[in-house]
Amino acid sequence: MTASSGNGLDLSGLTRILRGACAAMIASIDEFTHADQVVGDGDHGLAIGRGFHAADAFLSSRVHTDVGELLEGMGTAMLTSMGGASGAIYGTLFRRGGHALIGRPSFDAEALANFLEEGLAGVTARGGALPGDKTIVDAIGPAATAARTSIGLPLADALIAVSLAATQGADSTKGMLASQGRARTLGERALGHVDPGALSFATLLGQFQRIAAEG
Ligand code: ADP
Ligand code: MG
Repeated sequence: MTASSGNGLDLSGLTRILRGACAAMIASIDEFTHADQVVGDGDHGLAIGRGFHAADAFLSSRVHTDVGELLEGMGTAMLTSMGGASGAIYGTLFRRGGHALIGRPSFDAEALANFLEEGLAGVTARGGALPGDKTIVDAIGPAATAARTSIGLPLADALIAVSLAATQGADSTKGMLASQGRARTLGERALGHVDPGALSFATLLGQFQRIAAEG
């Protein structure tokens, strides 16, 4: 992992990896569209495309001051561009999680844990979804737990555990009935299908992990 400060990423290293993750999310929009066609209204790929284009534009727009400002600003870009439930959810996740890191010059495993825990608290307060409701919360929650138990590790190692937890959490939504969002009207027809928001969040962490490991 290059551009590091201690065990973590400095501002330019984090910016570079986040920009790579934005590009990877945009490259995956067909997968998110398909997932939302099965259990929703088919627009999650469109929302992710809009949100991560806007986030990437923000990342490249000016000189940033610290990692909290960077992540919080990405959230504002998503909130104002995506629309739908996921715009409010992703916007809140990044704004609240980023706000918890204001003033930090680098992003390490402890910052990752603080970001995910605060972001999860914001998403829960905003949307009211609980674990097991078949939403993005079922991917963020396990990721936040794994991050907290990984705070003593180098960021690259923490990211492996965290992205695995998010993927397993997203997979677990296949066995859930939905009680939030559009999928709640499907009843048992939602069984066997992944929640689109959980899938996109697990993809985001997986891409972040992959690009960070490449250095
Ligand atoms: P919309 O539901 O408005 O069409 P999207 O399709 O972009 O928005 O996003 C759907 C995703 O948003 C769901 O798969 C779920 O993960 C997430 N979501 C919906 N409602 C909530 C909620 N109340 N709390 C948390 N996440 C939610
Ligand atoms: Mg939708």
